[in-house]
Amino acid sequence: MVALDGPSGTGKSTVSKKLAAALGATYLDTGAMYRAVTLAVLRAGVDPADTAEVVRVARAAELSMGTDPLAPTVLLEGAEVEAEIRGPEVTSAVSAVSAVPEVRELLVALQRELIAQARTDPGGMVVEGRDIGTVVVPDAGLKVYLTASADARAARRTAQDVSDGRVSDLRSTHADVQRRDALDSGRTVAPLRQADDAVELDSTELDIAGVLEQLTKLVESRGLLVGAE
Ligand code: C5P
Repeated sequence: MVALDGPSGTGKSTVSKKLAAALGATYLDTGAMYRAVTLAVLRAGVDPADTAEVVRVARAAELSMGTDPLAPTVLLEGAEVEAEIRGPEVTSAVSAVSAVPEVRELLVALQRELIAQARTDPGGMVVEGRDIGTVVVPDAGLKVYLTASADARAARRTAQDVSDGRVSDLRSTHADVQRRDALDSGRTVAPLRQADDAVELDSTELDIAGVLEQLTKLVESRGLLVGAE
């Protein structure tokens, strides 16, 4: 089990998927789960600041995650929502929704179910998020905290938006990255923070291949290659 945490724009999703594919592991994007619940909240016309209503929508939402790293899927009410959950409406509301303790309780339970199923798989699982090493899988064989400077992260988010066909500009992305960092790190329940036993990996000066190389070395050094955990 590999836990990969860190703020947005570090290349976490890209490297998590590639690492999982290389290891023959499954992959779980927990951020996509908070995003899907946020989409359900927005679709229901609920104000993300209305905690009671957010909890009601979250409890009623039917969420299903596909864990193939080559084709991960997020289904809400049986329909694929991958593109919609990456849009600006969800991105600006997700930190408010993910700060609600009952929402976290619900999604952490679902995450642990998926992780428990994966423990019987020979390749294990790569799980990415904000609280994986600290809360969701504190006994993960390898915990990595991926960081990068705020400038590098904003530049990567903008490049990702543009390549996905979304309108994006560097200045507002920079502001959004910092706003989400502050909200995610400052919340009371399961704030974004590095686990005491996590390895910090700074990707400011590294490309995807460079990060992947470091991660592969770490996986090897922990004896986490297929079936070894
Ligand atoms: O990783 P991504 O940017 O898609 O995550 C979206 C948001 O979901 C984060 O900004 C954070 O508010 C929330 N999140 C969380 N805990 C996780 C994963 C994501 O609170 N494990």
